[in-house]
Amino acid sequence: MGDGNWIGSGSQEAGVAIVGAGIAGLTLALQLDSVGIASTVFEAAPAVEPLGVGINILPHASRVLCLLGLESPLLEKSIATANSVFYNRFGQLIYSEPLGRAGGYEFPQFSIHRGDLQEVLLKAAIERRIPIELGHKVTSVDQDHKIATLHFDQKSAPVPDRTASVVVGCDGIHSVLRKQLHPAEGDPRYSGVNMWRGVTLWPKILDGASMIRAGWLTTGKMVIYPIRDSVDEQGRQLINWVAELETDRYRRRDWSRPGSLDDFAGSFANWQFDWMDVPAFLDASEEVLEYPMVDQDPLSTWTDRRITLLGDAAHPMVPRGSNGAGQAILDAKCLSDCLVQEESLEAALARYEYERLAATSKVVLTNRVNPPDIILKIVADRTGDRPFDRIEDVISEDELKSISDSYKSIAGYSKERLAG
Ligand SMILES: Cc1cc2nc3c(=O)[nH]c(=O)nc-3n(C[C@H](O)[C@H](O)[C@H](O)COP(=O)(O)OP(=O)(O)OC[C@H]3O[C@@H](n4cnc5c(N)ncnc54)[C@H](O)[C@@H]3O)c2cc1C
Repeated sequence: MGDGNWIGSGSQEAGVAIVGAGIAGLTLALQLDSVGIASTVFEAAPAVEPLGVGINILPHASRVLCLLGLESPLLEKSIATANSVFYNRFGQLIYSEPLGRAGGYEFPQFSIHRGDLQEVLLKAAIERRIPIELGHKVTSVDQDHKIATLHFDQKSAPVPDRTASVVVGCDGIHSVLRKQLHPAEGDPRYSGVNMWRGVTLWPKILDGASMIRAGWLTTGKMVIYPIRDSVDEQGRQLINWVAELETDRYRRRDWSRPGSLDDFAGSFANWQFDWMDVPAFLDASEEVLEYPMVDQDPLSTWTDRRITLLGDAAHPMVPRGSNGAGQAILDAKCLSDCLVQEESLEAALARYEYERLAATSKVVLTNRVNPPDIILKIVADRTGDRPFDRIEDVISEDELKSISDSYKSIAGYSKERLAG
């Protein structure tokens, strides 16, 4: 067993240089800190802004965050989601299953604003005195047998080079380090589905702790779940929603690109159910953001000597299984374990890649064709996209459960696996 003490020795300033202060980069910094490995985070933005909207952190990843001591601040800022429910576009219930602790897991499922999650991670990193260098946009990294040197964009101000033992590219879907390692790779691959996302202040829907998926992509699918409780005197919740629609419209992904209700709300105009008035809910939304559903083909390697990739930089995936950030968090735990346990940097990065590349590639490919929401497509296909009398005549409970369980096992959050 090693103890990672070959990192950051000699004249290296940064120990592990982490490029990007998103969910991946901040979790890695906290994870390394917890095992006594020094890191510095280099973030391009001049300030860490709360961008994006809601995400779900499933029990495999929430376990890592809870073990870092973050359960209380996360519970304060999130909803501990208790149920997953699927409906057709006529508002008929297809399937329901318990989630997180309600589903018998040791750790909760957090439904949280991405900005709140990033803030909890950032606060913990500041408390633990982890250096975070804002306004440091990495343009390239050189390396030799002793050290890696990071070069930064000089447009706004002169930023001197920095050195480190290891450089981890946590710089998201448009990663500069991924491009450096794989210059021939093309742009992110558009799935043919565009997403519009927002948040609405609204009274509790169903039990106030459910993740709702309804409809299907060809005519319009919605994902709806609460991310903050009791935000006003009326006890309303902040509710995250995503509308997903097949379309040729493609614009580069950006966490803050504004969108417009006019571009998609028509697809949901008659979604007035006894459990929810979707058009009124959309009309009451605060801000609308637009994202293309994109991913990349899995890479053959993430590592070149002292440089490796992690999170969306390594394995961007379409968000149809609530797993992009979750897999980034698992990467961070794995890389930290490898750096502590292996005798050399080469061995640590090789084991990290061995353990995580194939595992995340499976999730990327499964999300394209067979994620949990495939239940909605199967029911739409079997019913000719019409209302049903009895769901049992369309699909059995066993088949529904087996679709759900199969994804859990591929993404690494089956109960058996987490208990082991
Ligand atoms: C619509 C949508 C819904 C999603 N829902 C879920 C969900 O429910 N559950 C889930 O687990 N995941 C979900 N995801 C995926 C999840 O949001 C991402 O996988 C996750 O945020 C990736 O984190 P990251 O830190 O790797 O990248 P990012 O969050 O993109 O962070 C990258 C960081 O690097 C910085 N950076 C970029 N370039 C440079 C550079 N050259 N130098 C320095 N810094 C740089 C950026 O400014 C940014 O701060 C969803 C994604 C989308 C789009």
